[in-house]
Amino acid sequence: MSEIPSKARAVIIGGGVVGCSVAYHLTKLGWSDVVLLERKQLTCGTTWHAAGLIGQLRASQNMTRLAKYTQELYFGLEAETGISTGIKRNGSISLALTEERKEEMYRGASMARAFGVEVEEIDLAEVKNRYPHVNVDDAAGAIFLAKDGQGDPANIALAMAKGARARGAKVLEGVKVTAVHQANGRVTGVSWAEGIEAGRIEADFVVNCAGMWGHEVGRMAGVNVPLHACEHFYIVTEPIEGLSQLPVLRVPDECAYYKEDAGKFLLGAFEPVSKPWGMNGIPEDFCFDQLPEDFDHFEPILEKAINRMPILATAGIHTFFNGPESFTPDDSYHLGEAPNLRNFFVAAGFNSIGIQSAGGAGMALAQWMEDGEKPFDLGDVDISRMQPFQGNKTYLFERSKETLGLLYADHFPFRQKASARGIRRSPFHEHLKARRAVFGEAAGWERANWFANEGQKAEYAYSWKRQNWFSNAAAEQAAIRTNVGMYDMSSFGKIRVEGRDAEAVLNRICGANMSVPVGKIVYTQFLNTRGGIEADVTVTRLAEHAYLVVTPAATRMADQNWLCRHAGDANVVITDVTAGEGVLAVMGPNARILMQAVSPNDFSNAVNPFGTAQEIEIDMGLARVHRVTYVGELGWEIYISADQAAHVFETLEEAGRDFDLKLCGMHVMDCCRIEKAFRHFGHDISADDHVLEAGLSFAVKVDKPDFIGRAAVLEKRENGLENRLVQFKLTDPEPLLYHNEPILRDGEIVGYLSSGSYGHHLGAAIGMGYVPCKGESVAEVLASSYQIEIAGVRVAAEASLKPMYDPKAERVKV
Ligand SMILES: Cc1cc2nc3c(=O)[nH]c(=O)nc-3n(C[C@H](O)[C@H](O)[C@H](O)COP(=O)(O)OP(=O)(O)OC[C@H]3O[C@@H](n4cnc5c(N)ncnc54)[C@H](O)[C@@H]3O)c2cc1C
Repeated sequence: MSEIPSKARAVIIGGGVVGCSVAYHLTKLGWSDVVLLERKQLTCGTTWHAAGLIGQLRASQNMTRLAKYTQELYFGLEAETGISTGIKRNGSISLALTEERKEEMYRGASMARAFGVEVEEIDLAEVKNRYPHVNVDDAAGAIFLAKDGQGDPANIALAMAKGARARGAKVLEGVKVTAVHQANGRVTGVSWAEGIEAGRIEADFVVNCAGMWGHEVGRMAGVNVPLHACEHFYIVTEPIEGLSQLPVLRVPDECAYYKEDAGKFLLGAFEPVSKPWGMNGIPEDFCFDQLPEDFDHFEPILEKAINRMPILATAGIHTFFNGPESFTPDDSYHLGEAPNLRNFFVAAGFNSIGIQSAGGAGMALAQWMEDGEKPFDLGDVDISRMQPFQGNKTYLFERSKETLGLLYADHFPFRQKASARGIRRSPFHEHLKARRAVFGEAAGWERANWFANEGQKAEYAYSWKRQNWFSNAAAEQAAIRTNVGMYDMSSFGKIRVEGRDAEAVLNRICGANMSVPVGKIVYTQFLNTRGGIEADVTVTRLAEHAYLVVTPAATRMADQNWLCRHAGDANVVITDVTAGEGVLAVMGPNARILMQAVSPNDFSNAVNPFGTAQEIEIDMGLARVHRVTYVGELGWEIYISADQAAHVFETLEEAGRDFDLKLCGMHVMDCCRIEKAFRHFGHDISADDHVLEAGLSFAVKVDKPDFIGRAAVLEKRENGLENRLVQFKLTDPEPLLYHNEPILRDGEIVGYLSSGSYGHHLGAAIGMGYVPCKGESVAEVLASSYQIEIAGVRVAAEASLKPMYDPKAERVKV
């Protein structure tokens, strides 16, 4: 094919809405040397048949920011390209049928206000006023988002392709990429064996925008892109007389959405158990295809819809549509550079929100490619959050049955996925299970979240109010605060950094000083060049040339990737050793007595002070103890070789009988850490949060030689903080905080909580969040009055810049 150049700066694989957006945005940044290759025709995969709902509100601020950007972009496309995108702002109504769902929506409305999205709680009369056809007899409440809208997905994609072409991109159809080439860990190009004629392009960057083919295209490059296609249904009625423009209507309790389009209704479904599709590969000739209809599958949704929208009973069905869309294990799309292949980027797996996400995702990805680093925190969607096992097809098949429906399911706090569980188990799993652990999942790990009492059902009863484990958590927290508790932290990511240059490499990557004696544990962050926090870890010097980096379970891949990228050619070996050791945390004022009861070693401050590790004997086994804490008490994390883990567990349990040692879960760890104002990565601290504004200046040592982010730290010191991370405690002990609730300062929304939990010891819900403070002293920040908005209600809060629990850390260093 002569029009295909032999070399390009970037090759994009896939001409759906996402690939077109990436091409559009790269050319906007001045990359004219861009080639988009589409195996058949533009939009012929999933894009052409999308319903075209374009909402603004997502579950985090940056995702909302991207969705808002998308909408604004689409509004300008018609003027820019002359292609009619059908975009309009007809607003959207979400209708709740239960009090719990109403609370979810009202909490969502509060969050929307914090994120700058226009929203109104509306009563049922107002719903009827705006949407006369809907039956609200059994409804509980509703919200209205005036700026939500809808558009024509195929034309939106074609308009972006046209915009890209106008700035020099080549957009070529009928070219199916069959191989991705690489050398020295870096992508070098793609080739195709079929189509018009075989060929190859050398490229500096390759972007996988292959939608539901994304998994397969990833495999061509040895890159894990976990997603699976599912059948996705809607019906379109015959024209209904008198039907004119209406807002989009969502009734999540009935798994349904309604869109008025050209005088017809489109009714779409997010059923609880969906139908995975394409297990044996997607047919080679798939192009603008539909899947066979399945009326039995759709019928339960239609039945409820006829009650909800009685006009449907008499409207004929014009189209019964079933098309495939890709779903990821956590219902978030995949964006960013592959952890294991430089310059190979991914934007795929859009979980039925690809149209409303494509503009922002394309913009963010193009900027990432241009800058060589994320333009802002994209942790929710960063491809490096995925674990290797999540590429397993059987796992994806099982999980995808659930993820489609989860989009409209109740989004209760602490809700756990029900499918594809039990894949990563700690060495203590069976012991914990036998002691009535109730497990949650993180990065595939089964983790004991709380322990049921004798006679209590060992399962969650979800709610927005106090859940069934509230008093269990209170008892677990009491054990940690007043006696001793033990919890399993085996899911910690554990990365060994070894070799002659280990110290130098870590000194360059970490904000803290790594030139410490063997046995020292250093709490530190990996900073980016903006001083933002890429990782929050402890690093233990195990030997002169060996360190152990301990990270949260969910970020092990990302953190290891950061280490490898920045190690360059240095003489270090970086190895994931997560599964090799189980970890038990023993925490509380009686922790030392317990340790002393099971080990002949010395746990005194003289021998094992806070922030040090030592090898110990424990009954007949060996372990390494780290004296650190995330709950703000005296305690040790015990690292035990997996083969001896059960023996050590039983030893501690036996000795603990004399002390009333209590097994504790992850939920209570969170309750404890938030009382102590310990930051949680991904919530309170992220790539967007400057380490000084996060209140972590104590962990940064600018007097050591250069490290990534040092200049940004010095600059912030010079110019002063613009935000401060403040801890809040509600004055009313009843309401609960989760995160994203707006913070009001003297009556005005100034931010939102980055995390929230219940402090059983302090006796109220506790949260943390950033408060703008440019040019202000600490006293000025604290002199204001604060409230937190919860589901539309403002609740007074005390504010503090010092931890509300044990501000002088007197309990930790005893
Ligand atoms: C019924 C239904 C309703 C939906 N409603 C909405 C909605 O209301 N709002 C919303 O935001 N989203 C909606 N979606 C989701 C949305 O359609 C998708 O998320 C979006 O279209 C995904 O775009 P994409 O570019 O990632 O994938 P695609 O559109 O599938 O594009 C991928 C392209 O890659 C090409 N390709 C694959 N392999 C190769 C290769 N080897 N070489 C070259 N090219 C290749 C394919 O041919 C395809 O054209 C809906 C989806 C469905 C099924």
